[in-house]
Amino acid sequence: MSKTEILKEKIADADLVLIGVGEEFNENFSKIGDYPKLVRALEVVEKNPQLSWLVPYLEQMYLAQYENQELLEAYEKLGALVQDKNYFLITTCIDGRIYHAGMNNEKMVSPCGGYRKLQCSAKCCTQLWDADEVMQDIQAWIEEERDLTALQQPVCEHCGKPLVFNNIMAENYVEEGYLEQWEKYTKWLQLTLNKKLCIIELGVGMNMPGIMRWPFEKIAFYNQKASFFRINQALYQLPEDVGEKGISIEGNAKEFLRNL
Ligand SMILES: [Zn+2]
Repeated sequence: MSKTEILKEKIADADLVLIGVGEEFNENFSKIGDYPKLVRALEVVEKNPQLSWLVPYLEQMYLAQYENQELLEAYEKLGALVQDKNYFLITTCIDGRIYHAGMNNEKMVSPCGGYRKLQCSAKCCTQLWDADEVMQDIQAWIEEERDLTALQQPVCEHCGKPLVFNNIMAENYVEEGYLEQWEKYTKWLQLTLNKKLCIIELGVGMNMPGIMRWPFEKIAFYNQKASFFRINQALYQLPEDVGEKGISIEGNAKEFLRNL
């Protein structure tokens, strides 16, 4: 029986499925050259350092337009794999692509944040603002429907400091953006005690091991009925104390899902 077949069997047999999605799924900007309007905008920003606040917005526009099909395909395969199961998914990716893959978004948490909300850069408060309006203004500039001088960096209505995206790239990250989902996750984890739990860790490296890697190992160790699949190109090794519950699969996790 291949490891993939064992994985499918364990999922079918599991009461609950815990999924971790990590660094191997991070988006990059390698195809930005295909979007001349965005490239032109970035050139303008480069010549005007006071406009550097626009860069993350342009990156987000790129991700939305590019719609990496390989990545979506991998996520769709993952969704199909667990569609009938009671699952919870954690991801450290901030690009938000997984929210467009038809999975249950209520069963996901992104502790590193994303591009949907803005926060005060000084973290004077924990309020979050919708990024849509600013995004539309920038889009209008890119489409040459609006002059550059009309663009203004949004500021905090309480302290006047600039607003930035509510994700881990913010110097003073406002964690309130994900805490409600995180609470759901920890409650869900309590359900896993003494249950048949299948843990699928996909492409999670050592950038932030405290979010998935180490806690997953611990959960697998303490749960007698757990099975633990670690799929990773370079860091596929499992600690010894996971014992026979652990199966390590060497390979890129995105490709692994696409080939299911
Ligand atoms: Zn503020």
